[in-house]
Amino acid sequence: MAFELPSLKFDYNALEPHIDAQTMEIHHTKHHASYTNNLNGAIESTEMADMSIEDILRNISQHPVAVRNNGGGFYNHNLFWEIMSPNGGGQPTGDLLSEINNAFGSFDQFREKFSSAAASRFGSGWAWLVMQNGNLLVTSTPNQDNPLMDVVPQEEKGIPVLGIDVWEHAYYLKYQNRRPEYIEAFWNVIDWEEVAKKFRVSLKSVAH
Ligand code: MN
Repeated sequence: MAFELPSLKFDYNALEPHIDAQTMEIHHTKHHASYTNNLNGAIESTEMADMSIEDILRNISQHPVAVRNNGGGFYNHNLFWEIMSPNGGGQPTGDLLSEINNAFGSFDQFREKFSSAAASRFGSGWAWLVMQNGNLLVTSTPNQDNPLMDVVPQEEKGIPVLGIDVWEHAYYLKYQNRRPEYIEAFWNVIDWEEVAKKFRVSLKSVAH
């Protein structure tokens, strides 16, 4: 069964002015579509064809590099579209906010740490908020790697609950080389209800 490019839950222009419509459309219909198609090509007629993307990623060291790059790209962008919303921004509430306060001292300290991880990721990659052995942690991965992968160092691993794409294709049309401005804008579109859902699911999972 082939993986499918998901539809977005909002229009391409819905995140403006924070993320522009052209970037969103190219990012979804070209970049994410390519990762999806290339992933399907790489797993066709293999044992992976019947596996979940999470199970493939957890044992990615056993699979070809094309699956690492495109399977990571497929999964990462799925998560990225899910955790953004035109009604986003602000702060989380409830159990997620409590856990962020426990882990980082305050929401502002978390925000600073996450933004710093995103800004300082050299070249292309992602910054993450992950659940690692029951603790929230900010991590970062290069290229299309992600914290589920067994090739990622232990201290960077976990279950992703929030992620930001810092590849230039995610921001260059609007922000050019000003990655920090894009990261600041991202805080206005984070769908904290969706992040809280992923947080609650992660509590029930075992981090490998
Ligand atoms: Mn991307």
